[in-house]
Amino acid sequence: MPQLTKSAELFEKAKKFIPGGVNSPVRAFKSVGGTPIYMAKGSGAYLTDVDGNTYLDYVGSWGPFILGSMHPRITAALEYTLKNIGTSFGTPIEMEIEIAELLCKIVPSLEMVRMVNSGTEATMSAVRLARGYTGRDKIIKFEGCYHGHGDSFLIKAGSGALTLGAPDSPGVTKGTAQDTLNATYNDIESVKLLVNENKGNIAAIIIEPVAGNTGVIPAKPGFLADLRTLCDQEGIVLIFDEVMCGFRVALGGAQSLYGVTPDLTTMGKIIGGGLPVGAFGGKRKLMERIAPLGDVYQAGTLSGNPLALTAGLETLKILMEENPYPELERKAQIIEAGFSDNLKKLGLNYVQNRVGSMSCLFFTETPVVSYASAITADTKKHGKYFHSLLDQGIYTAPSQFEAMFISSVHTDADLEKTIKANYNALVESQK
Ligand code: PLP
Repeated sequence: MPQLTKSAELFEKAKKFIPGGVNSPVRAFKSVGGTPIYMAKGSGAYLTDVDGNTYLDYVGSWGPFILGSMHPRITAALEYTLKNIGTSFGTPIEMEIEIAELLCKIVPSLEMVRMVNSGTEATMSAVRLARGYTGRDKIIKFEGCYHGHGDSFLIKAGSGALTLGAPDSPGVTKGTAQDTLNATYNDIESVKLLVNENKGNIAAIIIEPVAGNTGVIPAKPGFLADLRTLCDQEGIVLIFDEVMCGFRVALGGAQSLYGVTPDLTTMGKIIGGGLPVGAFGGKRKLMERIAPLGDVYQAGTLSGNPLALTAGLETLKILMEENPYPELERKAQIIEAGFSDNLKKLGLNYVQNRVGSMSCLFFTETPVVSYASAITADTKKHGKYFHSLLDQGIYTAPSQFEAMFISSVHTDADLEKTIKANYNALVESQK
């Protein structure tokens, strides 16, 4: 069992100055109990905390570290930019064109792209653009999906909001809330119903094409294509929020994996290589409405920041050169099969969902296809499971409703260790 004296001391101090001691709610251990661990260093697939304990990392900074932490090429590129270019200009820089061109080449739906500083900025801006373009007010999202903390999205939201049991947030005005409609993931009829009830008033449908903030929920075959057809029929802007699954489930994101092209795509996480970045882009006729070319306002003091773009560009280049996806799939299959064996040995029928290197073990026997089925999971058992993994040096998300991410630097020995730890943790979860 790791000794966590210094982490506990730091957390006590943090709580005096930072709400809840954390700068993002998902970092708190509220749903699993205990105190958050203060990390001191990341290296490859490993994290070391302030008390000197090391952990195998399956959180990967909540998704960005598909190549592990401190990849030598990314670190070297950052050092170069720091020494030879600068940290910010507030003017255009050449690197912005390079990343925009590369993203348009990689992601099927992109003809133009705007860089921002977070996934939240990307989704807020994409929805504003959809509203400006269509002249309509309402949007449809899916229960349990998380699109950042913009007001329009904190209605039946996933991720930390779901983990903490607060999917609706005070502070979101009634006016805003009434413009967000929630459909059921993987249920096209629920979407059609909302569209028919609000004929001519829906600006956008926004969806995580692989839902990663309610645990992991893959879109059923045909569901995304049905959404595409519906949007075409009704003049609705289809937005894929690929902040998490983009460049993760395939280089071109879920849209390339499933062969469905949205009108707008929002991105983040991996394209920042561990630095704060987001982006949104899509069809030229839509993106041309963004200021200063068009009338829909969107801006950012640090948008297109050289350091963030350096880390993102280098990550994308490595992904293109090395194509780690088949290897990530192989590793993810090893984990899935190992966990399955353990479940079988213990007579447990828990559900595992996985798309590529994103996966989730749900503490429920109900197939998880939507928010309603996800919340049948036993979060108490998950909490015991999480702590047992932690005691064995395996760091996973402190929530049942988050993904486990495998990176290219997890070795087969790491996976073996994880499968053994999973067995012990499953045993602990039943006590
Ligand atoms: N969209 C999705 C699908 C996400 O998973 C997240 C964050 O987890 C966001 C948007 C918000 O991104 P950020 O936390 O960078 O604002």
